[in-house]
Amino acid sequence: MAQLYDVIIIGGGIMGCSTAFQLAQRGVKVALLEKSTIGAGPTGKSSAIIRQHYSNELTARMAYYSLHVFQNFEEIVGGECGFTPCGFLMLVAEADKAGLAANIAMQQQIGIETSLVSSAEIKTLMPGLKADNLSAAYEPKSGYADPYLTVTSYAQAARRLGATIHQETRVTGIRMAGGKVQGVDTDKGSFDAPVVLNCTGAWGAQVAKMADVDAPIDACRVQVSMFRRPAGEEAGHPVVANFEHAIYFRPETGGLTLVGLIDPKEADAIVNPDHFSENVSDAFVLESGERLVSSYPAMAWSQSVGGYASLYAITPDWHPIIDELPAGSGLYLCSGFSGHGFKLGPAVGKMLADLVMGVAEPEFDAGLFRNGRFAANQPVRGQYEYSIVG
Ligand SMILES: Cc1cc2nc3c(=O)[nH]c(=O)nc-3n(C[C@H](O)[C@H](O)[C@H](O)COP(=O)(O)OP(=O)(O)OC[C@H]3O[C@@H](n4cnc5c(N)ncnc54)[C@H](O)[C@@H]3O)c2cc1C
Repeated sequence: MAQLYDVIIIGGGIMGCSTAFQLAQRGVKVALLEKSTIGAGPTGKSSAIIRQHYSNELTARMAYYSLHVFQNFEEIVGGECGFTPCGFLMLVAEADKAGLAANIAMQQQIGIETSLVSSAEIKTLMPGLKADNLSAAYEPKSGYADPYLTVTSYAQAARRLGATIHQETRVTGIRMAGGKVQGVDTDKGSFDAPVVLNCTGAWGAQVAKMADVDAPIDACRVQVSMFRRPAGEEAGHPVVANFEHAIYFRPETGGLTLVGLIDPKEADAIVNPDHFSENVSDAFVLESGERLVSSYPAMAWSQSVGGYASLYAITPDWHPIIDELPAGSGLYLCSGFSGHGFKLGPAVGKMLADLVMGVAEPEFDAGLFRNGRFAANQPVRGQYEYSIVG
């Protein structure tokens, strides 16, 4: 006998858990099914940088809303998210100077605290940073969170509100009849609901295929390395995104600095999300270390302390797909956050809950993320060539 719910959510990352929280808060009977444990997938490995810099007004508003949730997490969600407001500094070269200025003007209109900063101001914000001939913007309120704490707090809050969380429950099939979703089959039995949300990130295409839906989402392996800061640099630093060297880095507990790439080539490393190496390669440690030293010269004296690999779920325009597919079926896809979804998680939960419940004037309209944009050649475009930041 199948268990009956109003909504089934597949996937216990930030998107599934934030949406479960939003729906349970509205009295919806929700079951969340996770094949492993909450946050064990890419969400738990996220660098979890929380900045508000986006090129599109919608994504900037979503980041702004989400920052407020991270800042007031205990009050709004309950539990902890480990938010550290160390500031966010973005550095771009001449080619992106105009785009940066246009974005800052748009973000300020929304109410985001951000501004262009001079070389002298950069020196004050982070004396060890090499930023000659670069343009910069600074967000004093941004920073990073603890992704595992955040997602488990969301799951616990959803559970307190009545959601049922089934861990180690793998969805193996999606049942459809007459064009409507009926429920899902799992390795722990069947679950019925008229609404099913596919929040499976890098597994998004694989799970969509269970209902014969094709989703342009690739699972791409990405790496992160960590370095212990040398004597004199113990104090920490803001989060930095440096377009010139195509890296981002942020402080990590224990006097470490965590480094990742801002490089479109990461989309080329397509892997099977069930079989890929979670170890960092020596070549990546070397390359990311060299780029780090170019931007932050004192790190020439740092000590490498390894790293790890995880997955981005990448779409052709580096923005997610949030849509009912097929239309009118009750089956929704919410995946493909292309390496920048963590910070948007609180807003996405609200957006998806509003979409499912047919809210007439949602705070965040999901239309920008419709799947049909690809066939219509209307991708989400930003000010920069590489959309992970835009
Ligand atoms: C190394 C790295 C650094 C990042 N840095 C940042 C950053 O600094 N800032 C930022 O905003 N974003 C960042 N991101 C991106 C961000 O972490 C992701 O966009 C976000 O976590 C995606 O969440 P999700 O819920 O869509 O997917 P996931 O976290 O992948 O969750 C999907 C879940 O679905 C489950 N699942 C899959 N198939 C099934 C099935 N058949 N049945 C049941 N469950 C299933 C998986 O086990 C998984 O737990 C980073 C990502 C990575 C990997």
